[in-house]
Amino acid sequence: MSSPDVVVIGGGVMGASIALELSRNGRTVLVVDKGGAPGAGSTSASSAIIRFTYSNYNTILMAWESAQHWFKWNEFVGAEDPDGMAKYVQTGYLVFLTEGYDGVRQRELWDQFGIPYELLSPEQVRDRWPAFETGKFYPPKSIEDPAFADDPYDQLWALYDPLSGFMDDPMLAAHNLAHAARLEGAEFRFHTEVVEIRRDADRVIGVTLAGGEQVDAPIVINAAGPHAAKINRMAGVYGEMKVHHQPLRQEVFSPPAPKGFRLEDDAPIVADLDLGQYFRPHMGDLLNVGTTEPACDPLHFIEDADDWNDSTTVEFFERVMLRLARRLPDFGIPLKPLGIGALYDVTDDWIPLYDKTSLGGFFMACGTSGNQFKNAPLVGKFMRALIEAAERGVDHDVDPVKVVGAHTGQEIDLSAFSRLRTQAVTAGNVMG
Ligand SMILES: Cc1cc2nc3c(=O)[nH]c(=O)nc-3n(C[C@H](O)[C@H](O)[C@H](O)COP(=O)(O)OP(=O)(O)OC[C@H]3O[C@@H](n4cnc5c(N)ncnc54)[C@H](O)[C@@H]3O)c2cc1C
Repeated sequence: MSSPDVVVIGGGVMGASIALELSRNGRTVLVVDKGGAPGAGSTSASSAIIRFTYSNYNTILMAWESAQHWFKWNEFVGAEDPDGMAKYVQTGYLVFLTEGYDGVRQRELWDQFGIPYELLSPEQVRDRWPAFETGKFYPPKSIEDPAFADDPYDQLWALYDPLSGFMDDPMLAAHNLAHAARLEGAEFRFHTEVVEIRRDADRVIGVTLAGGEQVDAPIVINAAGPHAAKINRMAGVYGEMKVHHQPLRQEVFSPPAPKGFRLEDDAPIVADLDLGQYFRPHMGDLLNVGTTEPACDPLHFIEDADDWNDSTTVEFFERVMLRLARRLPDFGIPLKPLGIGALYDVTDDWIPLYDKTSLGGFFMACGTSGNQFKNAPLVGKFMRALIEAAERGVDHDVDPVKVVGAHTGQEIDLSAFSRLRTQAVTAGNVMG
């Protein structure tokens, strides 16, 4: 395909979702990815948690609407992938209420959208999941801090929603989307790097690939994950953005789950801002554990998304394991780390960027801040709405595009994801 209607840069879960939506709606789409397979970038590292806890109206509504597609994944994808279909594992989600997170606004919005939940006392939490220590340790502390070993000084209530869960294989989910997109006529070219965004005055006219080949296209979408800031700079649009984004290195671990906190025990996904961590049960009696960037932890921003360490480090391993052992006292810290280093593409306010730019025909779906896997099914629809609005002559910067959620019938205002927004008030971490 030498002159498609659309070039999508990146074949992760975002690029694949966009390709499916656009090709389903009659456009010829070429996805180029410098990696080797759909979802082999940061998508492959994802904890793939589908939850509805965000800070704002639009972000909660988006997560709830998008979840409807994960609940009926095969129906959404619309084609059986011969390599298998990713599966939704419903576990429920428990968030401890602590300083800075009282869950009140959350509950108001959940009531408004009809998201079911329960408010649980510490006793109720322990009755259901005896594996928990429900004590309060706030604030999260460095493990070098002598106060880290202090006994808890109070007890935590929790919000529990029964419908949250995770996708068992995020890379396979991207593969499912790519497979369905291919059936709709989209082409995916892997091991193919975009090295230039071509423009004629104020319009994009295509891309140049490593090796010199030029592809002509009136629409180019930046879905390059942690490389997206690099692509935005290449396109000359990074400077106009009021909200910026940058790769942030993280680590996630998969230690053995303690008894009482396995999938078979109906263990929930846990957001534990009290200790600065999140964790969930995983297949094979394992856990999936990461951090929520508490203020005491240094953040490892990366200058070059092609030059970073994807192995685990002692620093992260000890911190994550020791914190987990405070919340799950029967957790046995393994001798060796089983985990990975990975990159988020983090914005200033941890809210993503789904937007047009001042370069006509050049769009971005990036800044996913470690929390947007769950929204991939909707992002294709968002990008289609932005493209169609631009084609109708609507300037989204002035007259914001809105997408009506199919499940709730409520409007999601895409200006919430604008590069020109005033920074949103959020948790300021991966919770978004
Ligand atoms: C450790 C971790 C845990 C996470 N946990 C969750 C979670 O529990 N829930 C949740 O909702 N979200 C989570 N996320 C976030 C979520 O996984 C990401 O937002 C999502 O996967 C990003 O998808 P993407 O397609 O934008 O990026 P990617 O999957 O990184 O895809 C981008 C692609 O662009 C390609 N590319 C880059 N530059 C170029 C170029 N110049 N030319 C061609 N191709 C290029 C890359 O090769 C790559 O394949 C997590 C992320 C990480 C890293």
